[in-house]
Amino acid sequence: MSSTTNFDHPANAQKFNQDQARTHWHDSALWFIREKRDRMAKSLPEWETLRACASQIKAHTVSKLADYLEEFEKNARARGATVHWAKDADEHNRIVLEILQKHEAERIVKSKSMLTEECHLNPFLEQNGIEVVDTDLGERIVQLRQEGPSHIVMPAIHLKKEDVSQTFHQHLHTEAGNNDPSYLTESARQHLRSKFMQADVGITGVNFALADTGGIVVCTNEGNADLGVSLPNVHIACMGIEKLIPSVNHLSIFLRLLARSATGQPITTYSSHFHGPREGGELHIILVDNGRSNLMNSDDYRNALKCIRCGACMNTCPVYRRSGGHSYAATVPGPIGSILNPLRDAKHHKSLPFACTLCGSCSDVCPVQINLHEQLLTLRTEVKNQKQLPASKTMPMRIASWVFQRPKLYAWLGSVGKFFLRNLPRFMIYNGLNPWGKNREMPEAPPESFRQQYAKRAKKNESK
Ligand code: SF4
Repeated sequence: MSSTTNFDHPANAQKFNQDQARTHWHDSALWFIREKRDRMAKSLPEWETLRACASQIKAHTVSKLADYLEEFEKNARARGATVHWAKDADEHNRIVLEILQKHEAERIVKSKSMLTEECHLNPFLEQNGIEVVDTDLGERIVQLRQEGPSHIVMPAIHLKKEDVSQTFHQHLHTEAGNNDPSYLTESARQHLRSKFMQADVGITGVNFALADTGGIVVCTNEGNADLGVSLPNVHIACMGIEKLIPSVNHLSIFLRLLARSATGQPITTYSSHFHGPREGGELHIILVDNGRSNLMNSDDYRNALKCIRCGACMNTCPVYRRSGGHSYAATVPGPIGSILNPLRDAKHHKSLPFACTLCGSCSDVCPVQINLHEQLLTLRTEVKNQKQLPASKTMPMRIASWVFQRPKLYAWLGSVGKFFLRNLPRFMIYNGLNPWGKNREMPEAPPESFRQQYAKRAKKNESK
């Protein structure tokens, strides 16, 4: 994030909403994926059992994370991998740079890795004179546009094919105005192929690390991770410490859940296993904490470490779908991002726990049963206790609390409100002082309030 980044979610969302047609399109594109996920989930009678199982495996792993990490390290080393530990983003970036410098690497290909986005690895390496090419198609598109990903699974979901065509014309010199997806994909393919051929080192993320074998698993639909690490001799795999699962026997549960939850596919196209370096090559695995162990110590938020980054909570979230991933001003947006980011940096991300209707849809779809909406509610109190809320939020709440404690005043204000709703001209109700009425109609004033109806009924019952 740059020093000029606006972290205010409502302001960013408002900007996104200015283009109403695009907002509707974004909303329905994500809802389409959510529906695909539903169909896939319903096709498996054991879906809920898989979710419960995955959730319990993750909870168990997190409770013994130190032991499993040591087991993983021992087994990975035994297979010839070099294991590095990084306490934060700076250390992670430094380790990557040292490996690259040792090999005099100048050109890197990188498959999708949210961890390297979180550590801002690309700008760091570029500052050190190293060319980094993101090889996932969506990531390459946003990289060419000098934007961050707007979704953790579909980084360019905010863009239409016309936007991609324009970007490719500008950077890859494709035909102007040719929006044909096959033509654009083929152009990207040719462009990336030359980058793969020239790469000195391949960097990947890690979807799952297996403690009992010391292996790592990388899932992609494009095969770009496989190509990226097959040509160069050096493979650097960057993973958050929460990616661990105890055994290869558990893997199928997660693979089945991940593909169906992420894109509504029965299986990810490529789930590649790496057990040690290939002959004559090097495999470096960097285990990164960067604030994760703080979450482990928290009863309220420990569950967030179960996340397998499928993106399903984003696809279903009514706020995310209508505000776009960039409005979160964070690497991980959506419901899970609204938990992880404020826990790391409450000052900047204080608006995120409020980017939620508390509808609970995210918790319902989460393949590892994270209680996302409950955590978001708890986090709101925390943001308030840290005095991070602006007066525009705390003042109305204080006034409301004061009024609610005075029933007579509350009843009187209710009748005044009804009178205003019925009699004031529209411009006096729908104006800048009423943000609620900006995109919606106020409810009609009922003929009688609940209290009046209740009193009437009580009187009637008495007279019986
Ligand atoms: S919180 Fe759950 S639904 Fe959201 S990305 Fe993580 S695993 Fe997927």
